[in-house]
Amino acid sequence: MLKKLLSLVALTTLLLPAKAQTSFNANNRFEQLESTLPTPNSYRTASGSPGKDYWQQRADYDIKVELDDINRKIIGSETITYYNNSPDDLPYLWIQLDQNLFEKNAPGKTTKTGEIKNGISAGAFQELTDPKDYGYKITAVKDAKGNPLRHTINQTMMRIDLPTPLKSGASVSFGIDWNYLITEYYGRSGYEILGKENIANYFIAHWFPRLAVYNDVYGWQHKQFMGQGEFTLNFGNYKVAITAPNDIVVGAGGELLNPNQVMTATQLKRWEQAKTATRPVEIVTQDEAIKAEKSVPTGKKTWVFKADNVRDFAFTASRKFIWDAMQVDVEGKKVWAMSYYSKEGNPLWGKYSTMVVAHTLRSYSKRTVAYPYPVAISCHATAGGGMEYPMISFNGGRPEADGTYTENVKNGMIGVIIHEVGHNFFPMIINSDERQWSWMDEGLNTFCQYLAEQEWDRNFPARRGEPQTIVPYMRLDSKNQVPIMANSENIMDFGNNAYAKPATALNILRETVMGRELFDYAFKEYARRWAFKQPYPADFFRTLEDASGVDLDWFWRGWFYGTEPVNQSIETVEWFGIDTQDPTVKKAGDKAVAEAKAKTMSAIRNKTDIKRTVVEENPDLTDFYNTYDRFAPTEADKKKYQDYMASLNEDEKKLVSEGKNFYVVNFKNKGGLPMPVIVKLSYEDGTDEVLRFPAEVWRLNDVTAKKIIPTSKKVVKWTLDPFYEIADIDTEDNSFPREPAQPTKVQLFKMQGRTYSGGPNPMQEAKNAKEKSGAVTGSKNN
Ligand SMILES: [Zn+2]
Repeated sequence: MLKKLLSLVALTTLLLPAKAQTSFNANNRFEQLESTLPTPNSYRTASGSPGKDYWQQRADYDIKVELDDINRKIIGSETITYYNNSPDDLPYLWIQLDQNLFEKNAPGKTTKTGEIKNGISAGAFQELTDPKDYGYKITAVKDAKGNPLRHTINQTMMRIDLPTPLKSGASVSFGIDWNYLITEYYGRSGYEILGKENIANYFIAHWFPRLAVYNDVYGWQHKQFMGQGEFTLNFGNYKVAITAPNDIVVGAGGELLNPNQVMTATQLKRWEQAKTATRPVEIVTQDEAIKAEKSVPTGKKTWVFKADNVRDFAFTASRKFIWDAMQVDVEGKKVWAMSYYSKEGNPLWGKYSTMVVAHTLRSYSKRTVAYPYPVAISCHATAGGGMEYPMISFNGGRPEADGTYTENVKNGMIGVIIHEVGHNFFPMIINSDERQWSWMDEGLNTFCQYLAEQEWDRNFPARRGEPQTIVPYMRLDSKNQVPIMANSENIMDFGNNAYAKPATALNILRETVMGRELFDYAFKEYARRWAFKQPYPADFFRTLEDASGVDLDWFWRGWFYGTEPVNQSIETVEWFGIDTQDPTVKKAGDKAVAEAKAKTMSAIRNKTDIKRTVVEENPDLTDFYNTYDRFAPTEADKKKYQDYMASLNEDEKKLVSEGKNFYVVNFKNKGGLPMPVIVKLSYEDGTDEVLRFPAEVWRLNDVTAKKIIPTSKKVVKWTLDPFYEIADIDTEDNSFPREPAQPTKVQLFKMQGRTYSGGPNPMQEAKNAKEKSGAVTGSKNN
């Protein structure tokens, strides 16, 4: 690269902002979101916090339920007390009947599309052909005196017509009786049969008719339960009495009120020990659980739980359960961390589950609000995946029958427990509307999960959070993507859209756009403002700006409302130095250039071909110009230079004499999504330096951004995004001079086959080799 010389005066004009050249929409990208976000009001302010008139409804439940293990059926009866805190009188109430998802004509089934390619999966086959009569059988809807209330069922919703409108500020109590057949575990609830004994592990959720939400944003929430969009719920206090065969262990998202009636003396003693233990204590041991598999119930037992200020209630039950517990300190408060799992989960579950629950509570409490509930439970419900409810979650991660497991199963299990226990914060405490916005709980939770995973084990192979891991998704054609701001039921590629992309965006905000200090404060402020309230997207967007003083409208617009990727490149680099105007230096340079240019092919050949020229033959033909040096500075040149130097102040003189380099680097935004420009300068002497320019470098021209970069040392290489921070989908044009193409780190992940499940099982190979050589056999499930 040739260095060009600049005169000092010209520099001042160079420092003016470059003008927009061709057609760009930079202005749209950096314009405020005010026409997109809802108008602030006295319920939700422009700063993103609940307003002075913020209100929300409340529903308290008193439920008696029987688990019929023979028929795998739920039989329940409840009294709901509904508090109308809204400014409106309500002529009717809407109830959610989520179990109707499994009815023959449920909207989730009739609107589902599909095709048959190479056969049909057992799950899909069962769903299409299962003749069982699932869904709620509502046997009574009655007022506080027992008189029937008029009601109308509309698929997964039920309207109860009140005899007189429920006045603003008033409350009403009413009762519902129901029963339903429990489905097989479908990802959120149901039963799972494990082993030959035909014993069901029950994971019971959205099992009682419950109030729909009425709020200031939508009025009554009236999106049917289709299966993908989760739940929109009210806070309330619960008292739940669960009756089950007396050899079954019941765990629930609440505080057990009658331990003396349902636990044995031995169990109660262990329970006491667990209060001060630093490792989980088995309340029911594996040996006891295996014994119980062969037992026959001799009667029934009723487990009574209470849960205050929760938005839902779920429970688990099985005679196969091992149950471990440990009381842990979370921000100065004692919390029970517990796990329920059958022997098929061991050795993984006994070793890790409750420890991971405890870590999750501490990690999330630090970043959001202190965990407010008395209990947090992880249950082993399924081979993969997980599902969350207040204080209780149903999780995957199952070893092989021989007790070995792959690294992916172990890390997948730890990751999913962090995730599902983490949901206690989003959405169980920060009660977002899941039926509308999946990212508000999944995305925020996946982001916190990523942080908690790194705190759990160094270099934990997080699937989501690192910018590089979202690159394959961001490379997709935009017609195969929807923005993060898409309704829960309309999301394509759910895992990437609702979990990974928002989690990555938040990680980029924290590391690259805002910095950890500003981000962490603002994120915690959002959690603090909206704990036990119902936030919507604008409340999140506004709070993060309001508490950090960073204008993020461009970021929300690009990452949350758009589908464009990040793709930056370095197009060109120009190199300049300051012209000292010293005639001695300048003319010597001119001379060198002129001499170089004089070495033409003709001149080289003529040097030998023309033996002697006429003037050489006749020296008397020479004159002044045969010896004149046109590159020697004249007296006039020297005087001009002296005058110039005298006109400069000390700073200017220093700048002229320093010999600084000036580089004009031409960055290009090829992907559309504007992002900060991070560039590493590698110097001639082997050192380097990283410069960071905020995303606003694109505010006048969103395609081309030229930066003038002064350096003392010569730059030999320029590298964009050297720490893989911005999810650039094409890194081959990120260096200047260009380097030969090499695989990006994302491709390396793929080559190694790092996926959530499957993968090699070196633990099993080692065990088999050991057994073959006659060494001790490893621990077995039995
Ligand atoms: Zn989740």
